[in-house]
Amino acid sequence: MISPEEAQEIAIEYFPNAPEQLVNRLGIKVRESPMKGCDGYCLSIGERSIIRINSLLSGSRKRFTLAHELGHLILGIPGVIGETFEEMLSSNLKEERRVNNLASALLLPEYIVKDTLKDLPIVAGALQKLAKKANVSDLSAAIRVCNLASTIGLIRAYVVFFDNEHVKWQWSQTSQMPESLANYLLAAARSESPRAFRHKKEDGNVIVASIIENPYFGSSTLFVQLLPEEHGLSLSLHEKRKLLEQEIFSNNDKLRNQVSGLMGAHKPRVAGMTLNEAIINFWDRNEAKLAETEMLSQSGREYVELRIKEFL
Ligand SMILES: [Zn+2]
Repeated sequence: MISPEEAQEIAIEYFPNAPEQLVNRLGIKVRESPMKGCDGYCLSIGERSIIRINSLLSGSRKRFTLAHELGHLILGIPGVIGETFEEMLSSNLKEERRVNNLASALLLPEYIVKDTLKDLPIVAGALQKLAKKANVSDLSAAIRVCNLASTIGLIRAYVVFFDNEHVKWQWSQTSQMPESLANYLLAAARSESPRAFRHKKEDGNVIVASIIENPYFGSSTLFVQLLPEEHGLSLSLHEKRKLLEQEIFSNNDKLRNQVSGLMGAHKPRVAGMTLNEAIINFWDRNEAKLAETEMLSQSGREYVELRIKEFL
């Protein structure tokens, strides 16, 4: 077998395909078949290892399971037959947490996370961007962010999963959040959306809570971060974007679609341009097309600048 450190080097080299690359390199057989109440498991007999994955899972859940089982094999921690996604995540066993830490490092190397999430606080849109880049679920991205909290400028971070309005499980590197606080933050995040909910504590640090995913009816995933005041109180770019969209496009889907098309066409053109050049170029091409729309207002111009910043 390979050491966890070597595996993480391979994860950087082959991002975002490290789990697939590692199973090939290590000669691990991966088999998929339909299973009930189990996402996957691994077995080792002598030098030979096999990973079985539930074929009924979504693509990102399969990759999560593959990375998790690979974590068991690399760390030499025996796999658990019959473990589900939730059991893998909510386990308080030290071994399972070690497995999860390695699995999330294989899917999302630290430098990718740092490079993608430069803007604080971290909200749903930013996690989605990271998830897309790494071909994982938003939830996996959020868990990785929790694990790396202190290295990306957060004091602490939590992911809390609610089912039928009750806390089903939570993930954090540090402490558990009391259920009453989690419930309060969920309600507050809902009412503040599309902005994240912020609460400044007496010590000056700021709690920021936002809903990152509603995987199915009656469920929600809440992302909670604690960060220093200078980052906690400012609006993230993703929040600014949502607020501007509300202002500019409310009740105007035609304009929304038109601008989305123009942005899509502009994206490949801006390579190598400075921000200013890319903005001027956008207006040179599109000002006449957008005449007499909200896009020519100050908010519209701000929106164009913000979107172009995302490309560069
Ligand atoms: Zn496990």
